[in-house]
Formats: sequence, C-alpha cells, structure tokens
Amino acid sequence: MHLIQSKLPKVGTTIFTVMSQLATEHKAVNLGQGFPDFATPAPLVEAMAQAARDGKNQYSPMTGLPALRQAIAAKTQKIYARTLDSDAQITVTSGGSEAIFDAVLAVVRAGEEVIVLDPCYDCYEPAIELAGARAVHVPLDAHDFHVDWQRVRDAITPRTRMLMINSPHNPSGAMLSAQDMATLADILRGTDIVLLSDEVYEHIVYDGVRHESVLRYPELAERAFVISSFGKTYHCTGWKVGYAVASRALSGEFRKVHQYNTFCTFTPAQAALAQMLEQHPEHHEQLGAFYQPKRDHFRELLAHTKFVPTPVPGGYFQLVDYSAISDLPDREFARWLTIEHGVTGIPLSPFYESPPIGQRLLRFCFAKNEATLEAAVTRLAKS
Ligand code: GLN
Repeated sequence: MHLIQSKLPKVGTTIFTVMSQLATEHKAVNLGQGFPDFATPAPLVEAMAQAARDGKNQYSPMTGLPALRQAIAAKTQKIYARTLDSDAQITVTSGGSEAIFDAVLAVVRAGEEVIVLDPCYDCYEPAIELAGARAVHVPLDAHDFHVDWQRVRDAITPRTRMLMINSPHNPSGAMLSAQDMATLADILRGTDIVLLSDEVYEHIVYDGVRHESVLRYPELAERAFVISSFGKTYHCTGWKVGYAVASRALSGEFRKVHQYNTFCTFTPAQAALAQMLEQHPEHHEQLGAFYQPKRDHFRELLAHTKFVPTPVPGGYFQLVDYSAISDLPDREFARWLTIEHGVTGIPLSPFYESPPIGQRLLRFCFAKNEATLEAAVTRLAKS
C-alpha cells in the first residue's frame, strides 16, 4: 500500500524554519528569516486593537475590506499613476505567499511551464508543482543578479504559461530597471504568458532609485498579477496580510481560488491597515529612508570582518561572501556559524535548482535594531 506518495518529494521544511529553530536552539543572533525585531507602528497596533474592540471580528468581504482596497487603489494611483477599480482589481490575501499560490493555481495548468529566475523565493516552485506544472529555472547573473533576458527568451516554449519576476529581489536585493521592463514587454508581446510580479519589498528602495513596478507599465500590467505585502511595509510579518492587483479578468480567476483557499484574511488588521494607509502615507513613502541608515551601518560594521558584502539596491537583506573564512558549502557554513559563533544567516543554495559552483554567499537580514546588528557583527568579527 502506498498511502503517502508525496506530491512534493523534493520539498523538506523551509530553510527559514530550519535556521530559525537552529538559532533558538543555540541562542544565536537571528539574522536569518526576514522579520524586523523592532516595534510595529503604534498607531497601527492601536487601530487593530480598536477594530477588535469595536466588534470587527467577523469575516470581511471575500475580496477584502472595501476601505482597504480603496486605500490600496489611492496609493497605487499616487505612486505608480495607475487607476484601479478597487472592487474588481484588488484582492486582499493572507500574505504575499497566499497570493502567489492563488495566482499560480488559478491560471497554470498541468503539463505547462513556469519560468522562474534563480535564485528565487522558495515557495514559487512548490506552487507550480502543485498545479501539475514544471518550473523552468533561468539563472540570474551570479555576481550582480541581473536578468539575462536572452536566456529568458530562449527558455520560452509553447507550454510557457507564466513568468515570475521579483523586484526588489529576495535574496539579493537587485532591482529591475526601466530598461529591463522595456525588454520584458518586448519579450512578452504577442504571447499568452501571464506575468507574476512579486513586489513585496516595493517600498524598501535606496539611493533615490525608483522601484519599477509592473503597475507603471500598462502593457505589462494587463497580463500581470502584481503582489505586495503589508508585513514587509508595516513591520508586521506575523499578521499575514498582502494583496494581489490584476486585470478584471485575471482577478476573477484569482478570486475563484482565493475564496476557497482562505476566503478572507484577519479583519481587524485589514481595518487598521486601511486607516494607516490613509492617515500615515509618510510611513510607506519614507520606508527607504528608514532602512537606509540600517543598511549603511550594517555594511560599515561588516567592513571590520572578513565577510564581503555585495551591493544592496533594495529590500532588507545583505548578501555576504564568506570565502575568506571558509570553503564549506553554504548550508554547512550557516550551521557552523550559528553553532560556533552564534549568528544565523540563510544559505542561498535552497533558492536554486543548481547553485553556481563555488558560490559562497550567505544572506543576513538587517531589519533589526542597531543593538542586534552590533551584537551580531561583534560575533562575526571573531569568525
Ligand atoms: N520572506 C521571509 C524571508 O525571506 C521568510 C518568510 C517565511 O519564513 N516563510 O526571510
């Protein structure tokens, strides 16, 4: 009897859980899993508690609270100059991950192919496999993590149903440029390929460089699911609230999955986020300015270690090359660093189908208090 034949034979426990558990076990400074260790904005927490006290504790509409969808539409108009019908084109989800699963399951059929760009976030491929489809992995440049669009072009077949992009990119922080978007539009023109754009770090951008959201490009937006996450923007990753923006037709298909997957997400958080977007737009508008000193400080501290940091255009992760310290493969190095030196990072190989040979990179999250970053680097300096 084969009661259990895994549908995801290649999948184990996610690297984020594995490394967080190891960090706890060894009392390490956890710069692994990406989450802030500082407070969620007080007005947001207060608004959430108030919503619960006010009795907003039942199901929200399946597509999300109207006030939140309207606030998202207003923000999208202001930042990306794109007009959205908040009733038909915005769906609030239980985090970006739910939105990714819903989008893939809604449009990708068994036997089809989805192009992903490696290193890619670890939930993409399982979603594709559960849809019965195949992930086609196109590597990003091993040094600067830019897209080689010719390789993307070459990977397209008549079975290609979707292309997944991610900017600012997890784990590298690389960002797509306006030129990238123009090339992408060129490649997709005349095809039936749906674009999934994971933009959960959209507001965490540095040095005055603008985020090239797919929502800025009408030709791309009409074939896209654009996914964002309030957890990243409002320092509340545990609330699990995100959203997907798509055309009316794509949103219709998306909602057929979302309504049976989770139906809706935590109502008090939705009410609070709607208020926050309306009353404190400066929060998301100044998020890059908030994170930039953390990024810069962490990089200055790292200069006193043998870890070599790579550039960070966006997001809250810093990649470091550890080849001056060790020849160990990255998973082993991450374990060793946690156990022997009390600092936890995330190895990159789980983000790849085939990791570049000899790559010695670890990802650290710098969405932390200064004291946490300083404690971590004091330990790293001894390695
Ligand atoms: N997005 C987070 C990261 O990249 C992890 C989220 C999770 O643990 N599932 O670290």
